Amino acid sequence: MTQDIWGRIRSELQNALGKDEFKSWIDPLDFINADGRVARFSAPTSFIGNWVSRNYGDMILDLFRSEDLPVDRIAFKTASAPVKPEPEGGKPKAKPVKSVEFELPGSPLDTRFTFDSFVVGKPNELAHAAARRVAEGGPVTFNPLFLYGGVGLGKTHLMHAIAWEYQQTHKDSRVLYLSAEQFMYRFVQALRFKDMHGFKELFRSVDVLMVDDVQFIAGKDSTQDEFFHTFNALVDQGKQIIISADRAPGEIEGLEERIKSRLHWGLVVDLHPTDYELRLGILQSKAEAHLKTMPGVDIDAGVLEFLAHRISSNVRVLEGALTRLFAFASLVGREITMDMVQECLADILRASERKVTVEEIMRKVADHYHLRMSDLLSPRRARNVARPRQVAMYLSKQLTSKSLPDIGRRFGGRDHTTVIHAVRKVEELTHTDHQIAEDVELLRRMLEA
Ligand code: ADP
Ligand code: MG
Repeated sequence: MTQDIWGRIRSELQNALGKDEFKSWIDPLDFINADGRVARFSAPTSFIGNWVSRNYGDMILDLFRSEDLPVDRIAFKTASAPVKPEPEGGKPKAKPVKSVEFELPGSPLDTRFTFDSFVVGKPNELAHAAARRVAEGGPVTFNPLFLYGGVGLGKTHLMHAIAWEYQQTHKDSRVLYLSAEQFMYRFVQALRFKDMHGFKELFRSVDVLMVDDVQFIAGKDSTQDEFFHTFNALVDQGKQIIISADRAPGEIEGLEERIKSRLHWGLVVDLHPTDYELRLGILQSKAEAHLKTMPGVDIDAGVLEFLAHRISSNVRVLEGALTRLFAFASLVGREITMDMVQECLADILRASERKVTVEEIMRKVADHYHLRMSDLLSPRRARNVARPRQVAMYLSKQLTSKSLPDIGRRFGGRDHTTVIHAVRKVEELTHTDHQIAEDVELLRRMLEA
């Protein structure tokens, strides 16, 4: 029934717009329904949806009305961009929009990525503080905020957290979050549909622009160029920009110099690799969340410590391990024990086996005790050399998979019994000698970081 109505409206539009325009914009739309006062369509991209809203929205609404179907809004669903999830507690009711619903062409925000769920530790405290500050709004102090760091260290999480927070406290603001890849996609679409004007207008009308994984546009010259102009236009208007990348601006190959230098105008902060405490904190917080939803399941105290210790790659892997454990435990209705960890996570544990080398250990130990590497290899037996050498042997046994004879050979061709003796000695000393215990712990951490 309403499909017939849409059929008639379509032909009206075709007459009014002409064949080409109709083909570019109206033809790609699928009419879903008109219920309540909203006419819904699905569009192949939100870009097309936005364009139709802006340019033909009023016309379409008038045509619906002339068919005696009083809609006062049109809405688009896109296959490429699922409808944004609501923040927890629900969004405040949207203001009545005059005629069309205008949606920014960003990526959906993950409802789990909030400041509340972000665990702060030494390695990320600066990035977190900067993100918090920016999310508060107020006068723009660092522009852009540039967050960088390795895979899975929480860049995207922090960006989404900023977006949620900012939207909560600035209800009328337009916050646009998207990946650099999407930025490029929009740009290419705009070129294709000859709508650079619309593209520029869209990107320059936001209050906060966030572009994730900007290293993606390195080497893509015209996209970079457009990005640069967008960037400048927004900065000139005092609008906040937040950018992330997997490395520092200066290290992104193929990124134009002028962009690099512009990025340095703001605040550049990095997320350091996680340390043991942060990993444990994250695991505890995620385990708590799991436990809430699985009343029957319990977790052995040592398990989280073990995981924090053994899986030192990115947080995503850590999360994956935990999720797998809980899924397994809920299926078999058991407590999560160390046995289950070994059984369930063998592949992950194998993949994250430490890759510290004996040479690295020697170097760090020598540095720590202000010795030369050659001292550790030498036959000298003075205490100030022999003790550090034993510490290095101990750490080699603990942190690598090398055999005792192999370790002995690397320490200036020593016998494996010397290594055994060193391991026992240091083990003993860590219980009795406070200083040695501290040294060993510090070195271990540095090596594992
Ligand atoms: P990146 O964008 O840096 O590659 P993500 O932000 O996607 O990393 O983070 C990967 C996963 O790890 C996400 O599920 C995220 O919630 C989680 N994560 C990373 N850091 C933290 C943290 N400090 N606290 C809680 N979760 C974190
Ligand atoms: Mg990311």
